[in-house]
Formats: sequence, structure tokens, C-alpha cells
Amino acid sequence: MSASVLRSLEGIEAMRAFSREMRGKGRSIGFVPTMGALHEGHQSLIRRARAENDLVVVSVFVNPLQFGPAEDFSRYPRDREGDAQKIAAAGGEALFTVTAEEMYPHDSFATFVVPEGVASQWEGAVRPGHFRGVLTVVMKLFQIVAPTRAYFGRKDAQQLFLIERMVRDLHLDLQIVPCPTLRESDGLAMSSRNVYLSPAERVQAQALSRSLRAALESYRRGERETQRLIDEAGRVLEAAPPLTLDYLALVEPDRFSPCRGRIERARMIVAARVGKTRLIDNLLLAAEEEQ
Ligand code: AMP
Repeated sequence: MSASVLRSLEGIEAMRAFSREMRGKGRSIGFVPTMGALHEGHQSLIRRARAENDLVVVSVFVNPLQFGPAEDFSRYPRDREGDAQKIAAAGGEALFTVTAEEMYPHDSFATFVVPEGVASQWEGAVRPGHFRGVLTVVMKLFQIVAPTRAYFGRKDAQQLFLIERMVRDLHLDLQIVPCPTLRESDGLAMSSRNVYLSPAERVQAQALSRSLRAALESYRRGERETQRLIDEAGRVLEAAPPLTLDYLALVEPDRFSPCRGRIERARMIVAARVGKTRLIDNLLLAAEEEQ
């Protein structure tokens, strides 16, 4: 199959005009928002969007609002040419890019989407303000692109949960499509940040997915006690120094609140630092594999 020719849409007006034209022709728009440095995980979202819509728009915008002052905004990997090729190869029609100054005019921008409740736990506790930045940019991108469906990876499970809740809470007129996590052959969840890892750190990083698999195996052998499932995963992480754990928890899949006592289904979530690189992963503990 030949790759499609990619259309480059720079700036908000160019994107809006394209979206208006396509919707005017009755075309459905699948949207895949990203921060670039694309990998096969992103491409799987684009392929899924391609299969379910008339055309696919991918945005690449490294959103300054979701990075803390001590985080990796300035050194976040950027690869414009590689991204364009990967989008075209996966069947995307258009690449939307925009500057931070156009998104957040420094002398006037002052309106944010601020999630409450579990948004201050887990990732929100370690990265204050992160989800305010994520939801604000996602809301803005939805207004600009006006998609029929938007595709998000389960890799960022808490982000996906909060975006689905925002769409419900604010009555946004689009469908959110959750997509499975793509992994390297050794189990490591694909991430743009994996390029930061040295070969030794790359091996240590496998402990995250191994710990989740250990909990899943224990679950499938019949274990249902929250604490014992967490301990099972915790033992794998403890055996893998010098990994620094941010959190390891079991949450209710539909509410993202902490599980207590016996569970039926649950999502195990983990975040750790390997050297200077922060990694997250999660896995649904259920009888069936997640789609
Ligand atoms: P990012 O560029 O990291 O902001 O990610 C853009 C989108 O790709 C988000 O919806 C992520 O959840 C998704 N994504 C990132 N890594 C993966 C992966 N390994 N598998 C599936 N989706 C992913």
C-alpha cells in the first residue's frame, strides 16, 4: 500500500479552514493529538483512526503548559521530518502544527480547564498542574480541529480517564476512542522518552512492565486482594534497583480511585524514574486481554 501525500497545516486558521471544508463535504475526521517524536504506538492510533474515518488529522505540539518548571520541555525530543514520514506511512492526511505563542498569547491568555477529584492523585500528585495543562490543550485542539473521533492511548491511562470525563462533563460533541498500549518485544511500553535511556537503563526499565505482568499472572491464578497484588508487583520493582518508584497502585478502572480489599477488575498503575528519565505504565487486571 502506498503512503498518502501529507498535507501540512500550519497555524490555527489553516487547520480550521481545512476542517470546515472537510466537514462541509460530509467527511468524518479522525484526530490523533501528539507531542511528536512519533513511534509505532502513535502510528497504531493513526491506523485505527484511518480505518474508522474518512480522513485523519495528526497534531504535533509540545505543550509547554503541561510541563513543570523542572521537567524536560526544552529537551523533549523533536523530529519534524521523521514525524511527517511516519504520519504519511500510517495513512494520515494532514499534520497540524502551531506555535506556543499562537496557542497561548503571553499577554492575553488566561482561561484553563482545571480537572478536580482524582486529577490531583497519582500523576497529578507528582506533576502538579500537569493535567490542567493537558486538558486545556486538548480542549483547545478539539475546538480547532473539530474532529468526529479522537484517539488516545491507554498507555496514559489517567490522562485518558480525565479526557473522557471532560468530554462527558462539558458535553463535547465527539467520540473518544481508547487504543491499546504498544510495547517493545521485551515488554517496555513504547514512549518518546525511551530515547533518553542508556543501554543499561533500558534493561532496568523493563522492570515496570515485568511488575505489572507479575500482578496479572497472580490475578489470573485467582488472587483478588488489593494489597497482595500490589506486593507481588512491588517485589519485582524492589529487585531492580536503582529504579526510584513514584507510585505503584491499583485503581478502579471506571473511576481511577484507589481499590481497597477484594477487587473484581482493576487497573494497576506504576511510575518510576530510571536515572533522569521518568516512565509510566499500566495494565488492566481482568480475565480478558484489553483491546
Ligand atoms: P504523546 O505524544 O506522548 O503525548 O502521546 C500521544 C498519544 O499517543 C497519547 O494518546 C498517548 O497515550 C499515545 N501513546 C503514547 N505511547 C503509546 C503506546 N506505547 N501505545 C499506544 N499509544 C501510545
